Amino acid sequence: MVQNEISRSGDVVRALKSTLRGRIISPEDPDYANARRTWNRDVDHHPAAIAFCGDVEEVQTAVRIARAHEMPLSVRSAGFDVIGRSVRAGALVIDLSRMNQVRVNQQTGVVGGGATAADVIAAADAADLMAVTGWNGRPGMTGLATVGGYGPLLAKHGLALDNLIGADLVLADGQCVSVDKEQHDDLFWALRGGGGNFGVVTSLKLRLHPVRQVLAGMIMFAGAEAETVLRRYAEVMQSASNDLAVVAGIISLPNGVPALFLAPAWTGQLSAGEIAMEVLKRCGTPIHVQLDWMSYQDLVRGFDARVVDHRHYAVETRWIAKLDVDAISILLAGAARRTSPFSTIILQHFRGLPTQLPPDSTAFGMRREHVMVELIAAWDPSPDNLGTVHRHWAHELSRALAPVSLPGGYPNALGPDADDQVARAYGEHLPRLQAVKRRYDASGVFAATPLPT
Ligand SMILES: Cc1cc2nc3c(=O)[nH]c(=O)nc-3n(C[C@H](O)[C@H](O)[C@H](O)COP(=O)(O)OP(=O)(O)OC[C@H]3O[C@@H](n4cnc5c(N)ncnc54)[C@H](O)[C@@H]3O)c2cc1C
Repeated sequence: MVQNEISRSGDVVRALKSTLRGRIISPEDPDYANARRTWNRDVDHHPAAIAFCGDVEEVQTAVRIARAHEMPLSVRSAGFDVIGRSVRAGALVIDLSRMNQVRVNQQTGVVGGGATAADVIAAADAADLMAVTGWNGRPGMTGLATVGGYGPLLAKHGLALDNLIGADLVLADGQCVSVDKEQHDDLFWALRGGGGNFGVVTSLKLRLHPVRQVLAGMIMFAGAEAETVLRRYAEVMQSASNDLAVVAGIISLPNGVPALFLAPAWTGQLSAGEIAMEVLKRCGTPIHVQLDWMSYQDLVRGFDARVVDHRHYAVETRWIAKLDVDAISILLAGAARRTSPFSTIILQHFRGLPTQLPPDSTAFGMRREHVMVELIAAWDPSPDNLGTVHRHWAHELSRALAPVSLPGGYPNALGPDADDQVARAYGEHLPRLQAVKRRYDASGVFAATPLPT
């Protein structure tokens, strides 16, 4: 850091310490290394300070102090952004993990800006309700419900953001506003897709749904059958009930042998669920099947148990129009070229209710049916530092998929270097989004998921 940045950081830290009750961690603090660390070891950002805010007023104070000293800032809720955008180098990180309270009132959840999906699921479960989340519980609810949120209830209840009915934000001038269909409707529209680019979201209001047991688990097939299984799986999904969601993935088993899994979640009637599972099993000859009725909470816990922390990760993403022969052949050729046994390809089908909502109901850019593909390069730290090789694998496979892809991609998984995809991720909504950005954050204080200027 150059001298005037060091002195500015010192001023900011002193001002924060004299006004906030929560902890302020700066580089001299013995806990700094832990506090800046994220789930992804590949992220090695050194922020100027981290302020653990406990309420809206503390967030307002932190934003005003950062602005008064012209210090960049970033907002962190659970820190699961794949490229660490919540821990911005040289910035003040406004950490909301203390603001994780969830209140449930009838079929609405009022959720603190730092709550994880698991916090929301647990509170909803206690009230016999279900929240629309992703497949994992550990990521923050704000990142999901303001950018997308593909999960087990997608076909039936939409993306997480389709279930966002209001929010409170602290804007760049420190003012706190409530947004919903009646108040600041332009910002409410932009927030559902445009993510944390307009202010600090201190609270979300979410629609919850009556609870159901979920029939879920894993059906595993040998890698040699992958082509047949994917082809049949694509056929099955064409006419599947909206009670069904499936994550498909290409992985390596612990012995290094490639395999393909279908991880279904069924939230409909019991007998129809058993039939749906039989149909999925018949996509090939399963080598392992584990399916059970369970709570939504247990389904998500099962996915959390598979997330390995502090490995290196690099993610690329594509929206493909359909899982046809060409797409399957590109994916399988890419899978065969994986450079690490931990690298995976994950597929999620966007279909059902969210495809029927008007395309301009929210800022989310892709309402037509598609398959969201995540190419996840993952590797353990090693002295020979092969990161470039693994990143290159994901990048090249993403390039190979381009001809069968729709424009853009899921913004939560797009890095800033995916220029062409970033520019098209919001489609026709981009000018309207940019206008809201200019209206509420003209000087670009907030930079979350990439939003072309
Ligand atoms: C292991 C794993 C599993 C995932 N599973 C799914 C899935 O099933 N479905 C799916 O759709 N996505 C999934 N994702 C993507 C994930 O939901 C997003 O990356 C999400 O943004 C993470 O939220 P976070 O709060 O943990 O991240 P953070 O790193 O804390 O924040 C993410 C971004 O949002 C901004 N931000 C965070 N909180 C606020 C706030 N309160 N106000 C303003 N800006 C804020 C940050 O500055 C940052 O730019 C997964 C990601 C991982 C790593």
